[in-house]
Parts: sequence; structure tokens; C-alpha cells
Amino acid sequence: MSELVVEGLRAGVAGLEILRGVDLEVRSGEVHAVMGPNGSGKSTLSHVIAGRPGYEVTGGSVRLDGVELLGRPAWERARAGLFLALQYPIEVPGVTMVQALGESLRAAGRDPGEVGALIASEASAVGLDEAFLSRPLNVDLSGGERKRNEIVQMGVLGPRIAVLDEIDSGLDVDALRAVSRRVAEMAAHGGVGVLAITHYQRLLSELPVTRVHVLQAGRVVQTGGPELAFELERTGYAAYGAEGAA
Ligand code: ADP
Ligand code: MG
Repeated sequence: MSELVVEGLRAGVAGLEILRGVDLEVRSGEVHAVMGPNGSGKSTLSHVIAGRPGYEVTGGSVRLDGVELLGRPAWERARAGLFLALQYPIEVPGVTMVQALGESLRAAGRDPGEVGALIASEASAVGLDEAFLSRPLNVDLSGGERKRNEIVQMGVLGPRIAVLDEIDSGLDVDALRAVSRRVAEMAAHGGVGVLAITHYQRLLSELPVTRVHVLQAGRVVQTGGPELAFELERTGYAAYGAEGAA
């Protein structure tokens, strides 16, 4: 049993506070959605949880199984069991998926020899052609292929907690279904706790969620069950005020 606890998290970039006191808790096997309009701080939240450099954290805490993550480098957070799927996965010329994940397994004390078979099985689960996997990481891949690539990495690494930033963007309906099925399976059978960030209700018609949180102007302004996402689809985010629109 694992849990990620975010408490009173405040962070931003020089001179601009973006997260203004975020509280969230995700446990093993749960899938939480974080929804919110453009610019509400969703990606910033994912980056600050994962330890991406360049942000100033001014308050609060992010704990994984009781251990404070803030102040630790991203690789230590990853080794502690945290995974982040980026909204915009980056190209890594010269490094293949097999090499990158082989190193990750080795660093985690696992057998890197099994990486090829693991990747092949994860790729087939999300309908990704294995030919991509011997190419440099994300180079010349479409947006949707990169997203599926992120889920392949998640499947191979087997994190305790996964933060997925807009994993639905750029996916056609079949890919969205395959990705959602795999994520749901990892939560239900692998015990992964998932924080799925999105601004579309579309993801939630494929991925069953435990809780939905609405992020607006750097704060969680409402939390509810899955029905909240469908309500948002009807009403939009306007009901929460325009303060986050800036
Ligand atoms: P979301 O993912 O919800 O669309 P982001 O977390 O990407 O929102 O951004 C939240 C706000 O912070 C936006 O107004 C964005 O322009 C601003 N922002 C994010 N990163 C930076 C940065 N490095 N420098 C300046 N402003 C930033
Ligand atoms: Mg974003």
C-alpha cells in the first residue's frame, strides 16, 4: 500500500506564484483525475511533484509513503516509485527506449536483460509498433505515439504512483481506449496510484476514476466523484469564476 500526499503545496517561477496551496491524496489502486482550464497550474503541479528543476517551492509538502520528496532530485523521486508522463514528451536523440529503460531497471536493482521482452509486451498492450522502439526515444514520433510510449515506460518501470499529464491529448479513440485500459489495469492489478491530469471529460469516459479534483488558479476548488467530470462537461469551468483565466 502506497500513498502520495500533497499538502498546502505552493510553488511558481521567479516572481509568479502558480500553485497556491494544493492538497491531494492518492493511494494504491486509486485513479484520481485533476481537471482544470488551460493555465490553472496542472502541468506545474505535475512538474513540481516530479522534481523538474526551474520551479521555486515556497510552501507545503509532497510525501510518498511518508518520505518528503521536495528538495530531492527527480531521479531519487523516480527511484522512490514516482513516475511522470509528460504533457510534451521530449526527443532524446541517440538513446533508444531499450537503452533508457535498461539503465532505469539497472538503477532500480532489476535485471536489465528482461527489458526487451517487457517493452514488447507493453507496446502490444497499447498498440504501438515495436519498430518505434529501436529508434531514438520519441524522435520523429507523432504526438499520439509519444503518449503511448510514455505508457510503455510506465508499464516497464512499474511505479507506485504515476502522474499522467494530458495523456489523452493527440490520441485517436482506439489509442485512447488502449491506453486507458492499460492504465486502469495497472491501477487495479498492479496497485499503482494514478493522478490523471486532463482538461477533457473524454478521457474519463474511457478511464474509470475514483475521484475528480478541479484545479483553478493554482488551488483545488472542488473534489467529487466521477459525476463531477460530466457536470463540468456541461457547465464548463466558468462556475468557478474567471480568476484563473489570467
Ligand atoms: P496548465 O497545465 O493547467 O495549462 P501550467 O501549469 O502549464 O497550466 O501553467 C500555469 C500558469 O503558469 C500559466 O499561466 C503559465 O503561463 C504559467 N507558467 C508556467 N510555467 C511558466 C514558466 N516557466 N514561466 C512563466 N510562466 C509560467
Ligand atoms: Mg498543461
